[in-house]
Amino acid sequence: MATKTQAETVTKPNETMQIVIVGHVDHGKSTLLGRLYADTGALPDGKLEKVQAICRQQGKEFEYAFLFDAFLEEQEQGITIDTARTFFVWKGRQYIIIDAPGHKEFLKNMISGAARAEAALLVIDALEGVKEQSRKHGLLLSMLGIRQVAVVVNKMDLVGYRKDVFDGIEKEYREYLDQLKVRPEQVIPVSAKLGDNVAERGARMAWYAGPTVLEALEGFDKETVRAQQALRLPIQDVYKFDARRILAGRIASGRLKVGDRLVFSPSNKTATIKTIEAFNIEPPLAESQAGQSVGVTLDEQIFVERGEIASHEADLPCVSTAFRANVFWLGRRPLEQDTTYALRLGTREVDCQVAIIHRIVDAADLAHQQGGAFVGRNQVADVTIRTRSPIAFDLSSSFETTGRFVLVDGYDISGGGIITEMVHDEQEFLRDEARRRDFAWVKGEVSAEARAQHYGHRAAIVLLTGSAHAAKTFLARTLEVLLVAEGRHAYLLEGENLRRGLDADLAAPDKGDALEMVRRYGEVARLLADTGLIVVSTTNPFGLPHRVVVESIRTLAHPTPVLVVHMSNAPEEPPPHTDLNLVGPENFEESARLVVEELKRRGVLAQAIGAKPTFQYSI
Ligand code: GDP
Repeated sequence: MATKTQAETVTKPNETMQIVIVGHVDHGKSTLLGRLYADTGALPDGKLEKVQAICRQQGKEFEYAFLFDAFLEEQEQGITIDTARTFFVWKGRQYIIIDAPGHKEFLKNMISGAARAEAALLVIDALEGVKEQSRKHGLLLSMLGIRQVAVVVNKMDLVGYRKDVFDGIEKEYREYLDQLKVRPEQVIPVSAKLGDNVAERGARMAWYAGPTVLEALEGFDKETVRAQQALRLPIQDVYKFDARRILAGRIASGRLKVGDRLVFSPSNKTATIKTIEAFNIEPPLAESQAGQSVGVTLDEQIFVERGEIASHEADLPCVSTAFRANVFWLGRRPLEQDTTYALRLGTREVDCQVAIIHRIVDAADLAHQQGGAFVGRNQVADVTIRTRSPIAFDLSSSFETTGRFVLVDGYDISGGGIITEMVHDEQEFLRDEARRRDFAWVKGEVSAEARAQHYGHRAAIVLLTGSAHAAKTFLARTLEVLLVAEGRHAYLLEGENLRRGLDADLAAPDKGDALEMVRRYGEVARLLADTGLIVVSTTNPFGLPHRVVVESIRTLAHPTPVLVVHMSNAPEEPPPHTDLNLVGPENFEESARLVVEELKRRGVLAQAIGAKPTFQYSI
């Protein structure tokens, strides 16, 4: 075998694949690896003989596991890493084997992105059968979202190579993995010690027709090369040079070229790439790909902000306010439900909360429990996260960078997570509508920026919420008057005025058409915002909870800023979506001024009227 493989290892590998090997201690991981290395010719000349000689000298039986240990020492010299890695080359592919005895470090590294296993080998002792530890390892792989798994049922020689023993283990373990949504591609009966079905088939298990371990490794698909994936460019910065805006960022996956139409999520803005600017590269690039840092200029001046993800329209990232994720927690304080943390994904930062803790796993011993109110240090949890505003993301199984996030507690990065599922929120229907409408939007010649420069403010929607008799309508009217008196372009959009016109075909809100009324109202507000107006309104007419109205209008008007002002007669806890809380105002002129100040603070209104406005374009 060794002579045959020698030639194969001489050629330089053209790809690498990272494999993690897990299994209960003593089930034969080291023996399997030692055997693999020996049989693929990965060992340096004479190594096998040397280790055999040492064994003879010391009077102990030769073990392939010793070979692996010696090999590990050799390859690892001078490298300090917390998970042992060794490698061998077979048929043009370099296999990097990650041995993860300390699950904690491995889990942490996998979730933080420091390590990445593309596939896994899971070893079970045929004599001992499926043990608690084997189950925990299945759970570990499922938490990490590793989808390519081969199960090695080792020590078949100790059970007389019996098919029924193997079949029993295969059935039991497949059923267990199935619950975890891990589907092993192969379950292979092996004797690592004697070499059956590792690199060669051997005659002792003629009943088995499947692949050997080496063939299973060959069969693992390489993850799609990042440049070949769909485009994801998280926007890091927007630089303004004279009239030009350069959007800068590092391409996380895919490629882009001059002339491509880009979609920015979650704002749904679209524009075409005019030039690609790269530092110190002449002549300018016509295209660029994953891993490169670029600046792009667009054919139109659209407001795009740090944190958005650029993609092509044919393959968009998910957008939602909720997703399911596996989080590794390292914080000094536990991760608690209903506490606000900052979530960083790509270049975006949003506030978030853990809505549900589904399952908690201790990283050190893989003990697990269903549910819980908090996640402690060094625990991994399967959770549902809700963000305060919609965020663009991907599933980590498809996209490495945009499927991963960190959680910040105060000033500390306290956890990392990988996204496993998109959770459909209530706004999905309206968000889809907004996406479709925005992509097909026919623009005039006057850009939003030109309008903003002309008016001295950008468009915005001010929504007043609060209980009945809180004088919301009165404040809305006062605000409109004040804004117009100051020379702004403001308009009181009274929901009542839609009722007998645009909504004439709908029944009264209490007959169940309230949501449709909100939808139409949101579309009208969005149109008015597109004209550059500041739209002022109350949530009175719909008879729905404020939250529903506010969220729907925010979704439809996105990314126009929607400032929510909550009013109450007596002190009360304002709803979570509130931007400005006014308690029992007596002087409405004064309250309207507070709203104007808030609009200035948020960069909606230019600080001064007349002179060239220098507002920031931040929401
Ligand atoms: P690890 O702790 O999972 O790395 O397990 P080792 O590879 O060190 O193996 C533990 C013990 O099981 C050693 O004494 C090996 O010789 C033995 N062993 C490993 N594979 C086999 C096998 O296929 N058949 C038999 N009979 N023993 C094996």
